[in-house]
Amino acid sequence: RTVYCAGTYMPQSEARLSIFDRGTLFGDAIYEVTVVLDGRLIDNGLHLDRLERSLAALAIPMPLPRHEIEAIQHELVARNELVEGTLYLQVSRGEADRDFVYPADMRPGFFAFTQHRAIRDTPAQRQGISVALMPDPRWARRDIKTTMLLGQVLAKREARATGFADVWFVEEGVVTEGASSTAFLITRAGAVVTRPNSHAILPGCTRKAVQALCARHNLEFEERGFTPDDIAMAAEAFQTSASSLVTPVVRVGAIPIGDGAPGPMTRRLQHYYLEAALGQGSD
Ligand code: PLP
Repeated sequence: RTVYCAGTYMPQSEARLSIFDRGTLFGDAIYEVTVVLDGRLIDNGLHLDRLERSLAALAIPMPLPRHEIEAIQHELVARNELVEGTLYLQVSRGEADRDFVYPADMRPGFFAFTQHRAIRDTPAQRQGISVALMPDPRWARRDIKTTMLLGQVLAKREARATGFADVWFVEEGVVTEGASSTAFLITRAGAVVTRPNSHAILPGCTRKAVQALCARHNLEFEERGFTPDDIAMAAEAFQTSASSLVTPVVRVGAIPIGDGAPGPMTRRLQHYYLEAALGQGSD
């Protein structure tokens, strides 16, 4: 596989990072994941917007002009002949002797790589998944997409060990979001419900796309926090992320959703999302 690192394309076996990179020492780094379908980067403009926002929140400059980052993304997709999978990019504050307080003149580090994997035709897409409910272990600025992901790593491991495919986090009795996704319910009245964006959750790019699809197809989109009681009353549930599109959720903790199979509205949203994604020009 060809990756991009230290300003150039190289085989993955040659890519090296300094042990003094602040991404490694402090999790002082931002990342983005864009899904690739039919060789195209989907909703990539939204991901680059969020990259700029996350970097600005940490006062890390863009490592390259946006159009050069985009050109590298396209080049990696082409060089790796990626038809379906993901493109990961990471920007760290850069390299300096270890100190919590960083020098003023840091140069950000940037790398990117692709991953081949099935996105559309997976058991999760077809049959839905079960998610565990767990207390949210994360810090107070979850709107910034940092590489500090240990809470998610531990929660997903625990979920797998107890028979669940994934995790939704709960804080003060309300679902925040999935460990790496946005959490949604569909009420019996047919409203699509998800928590409003705030510092408590990552503003999902796929969430934004689904919101636009609801507007286009006249589905009610309701932004409010929901509780385990709301989940028990829901007709359907699903989660979204770039790499998992719209994934049906058929059980949340001990609560079965609907009849335990992906619901019809979720199926429609899966279809609308793919239709819109595949209709996009290469962006
Ligand atoms: N929330 C969290 C915590 C995430 O890590 C992710 C994606 O990885 C999302 C939500 C979904 O964001 P997006 O739809 O932009 O991939």
